[in-house]
Amino acid sequence: MPVYNPPLRDMQFVMHEVLKVTDEFKSMPQHADTDVDTINAVLEEAGKFASQVIFPLNISGDTEGCQLNRDTHEVTTPTGFKEAYKTYVDGGWAALSCDPEYGGQGLPLVVNQCLYEMMNSANQAWTMYPGLTHGAYASLHTHGTPEQKATYLHKMTSGEWTGTMCLTEPHCGTDLGLMRTKAEPQPDGTYKITGNKIFISAGEHDMADNIIHLVLARLPDAPPGIKGVSLFIVPKFNVNADGTLGERNGIYGGGLEHKMGIHGNATAQIVLDGAVGTLVGQPNKGMQGMFVMMNAARLGVGNQSLGLTEVAYQNALAYAKDRIQMRSLTGPKAKDKPADPIIVHPDVRRMLLTAKAYAEGGRALAIYSSVLLEKSHNHPDEKVRKDSDEMLSLLTPIVKAFLTDNGYQAATMCQQVFGGHGYIKEWGMEQHVRDARINMIYEGTNTIQSLDLL
Ligand SMILES: Cc1cc2nc3c(=O)[nH]c(=O)nc-3n(C[C@H](O)[C@H](O)[C@H](O)COP(=O)(O)OP(=O)(O)OC[C@H]3O[C@@H](n4cnc5c(N)ncnc54)[C@H](O)[C@@H]3O)c2cc1C
Repeated sequence: MPVYNPPLRDMQFVMHEVLKVTDEFKSMPQHADTDVDTINAVLEEAGKFASQVIFPLNISGDTEGCQLNRDTHEVTTPTGFKEAYKTYVDGGWAALSCDPEYGGQGLPLVVNQCLYEMMNSANQAWTMYPGLTHGAYASLHTHGTPEQKATYLHKMTSGEWTGTMCLTEPHCGTDLGLMRTKAEPQPDGTYKITGNKIFISAGEHDMADNIIHLVLARLPDAPPGIKGVSLFIVPKFNVNADGTLGERNGIYGGGLEHKMGIHGNATAQIVLDGAVGTLVGQPNKGMQGMFVMMNAARLGVGNQSLGLTEVAYQNALAYAKDRIQMRSLTGPKAKDKPADPIIVHPDVRRMLLTAKAYAEGGRALAIYSSVLLEKSHNHPDEKVRKDSDEMLSLLTPIVKAFLTDNGYQAATMCQQVFGGHGYIKEWGMEQHVRDARINMIYEGTNTIQSLDLL
């Protein structure tokens, strides 16, 4: 049976001994009182949630997948996903690092970073449902009007409503300037949005009461290309003035993709059939709001592969200590056994140590990036904010591409440690390889990340 032990000590080492994050926080009024014990205690509980609540659903979620009812357009997620999400919301995990003004707990982003590493190790497909919400939250928090923030951010902070990012269309993924979805202005100031989106992660599901889609579309007089793209909020259910749910909006799941991995996450074809939306930010400046979301998501995708690297490594290490085959080149090591554990063999050690280096190095880079993100938002000194933002801009494509390329290699090497057993489903190793593959593709392929870096 696969295992997952939250790597709390390794996280503590990077946070408290390498980066000394609480010293950094002292200069930021909102985090000045956050101490080492608080961070460690929260992450200990987070590790229990990841390993005890969602890790047991990883293989079953992969096997069962999501189902779309073509009559109602509703999606049923794998058994246990909905209940686990309720536990997540009730435990306050969604709100961990969100703004207290909207009901968040206001803990430093590094705590959320570590929570998500553990949840990604435990179950990437499940973790994508709350994960997408953070990007949508960040975009609305930066670019939403006071009214939009009041309407949506409290429920997204609590996790009662989830978010999506609806960019991709059948004929355009990388080149969003080719987008065709249309937004027609209405006399009441809203927009009627019509078009087709594909590949929308967590685009439809049964885990939350409402889904807040952030949709890119074109206004009638928009200039061609990427300079003519605007951003809209399109809720699954319209929201009444008093905050209660109103009528079902004209946005629904038209199909689910059958795919290589992350089967527990609903990758939806989304139909917009005159759906009511409101504009976020300025007309034709939709990429500004979307980039807030995409940058958050790029760091998040790097973190997905970090999580997979760690869990694949833990399982390969345990197997390599247990499985006995052949003798060590330097003479028998387990003399009481008919053969030595395979961890004595140099090539097995190479694979394990590579995965370990990718996990530990990747974790340091990811945690460092989350501290830069914190400083870019909350440091009182403008120069520190600017420098942190510039360094983070440089590192974001590296976090995304380097960690996901490494994560796929690590998952494959850890599968190889199992020999033929790595190819068999029950050990869980082939799922890590399948799940890790998407991380090199979405949120801008790794080729696009390398172009961004240049
Ligand atoms: C499971 C899954 C979940 C997804 N979730 C979401 C989501 O939630 N929301 C969303 O909007 N989208 C989502 N996507 C879409 C994803 O972001 C796109 O698939 C991705 O950005 C690539 O776009 P594309 O598939 O259209 O490929 P294309 O853009 O057609 O690219 C094809 C190939 O050409 C290369 N290429 C393109 N332009 C260049 C260039 N200038 N230089 C060099 N090479 C280039 C690409 O790197 C790629 O290898 C998801 C996709 C999948 C499969």
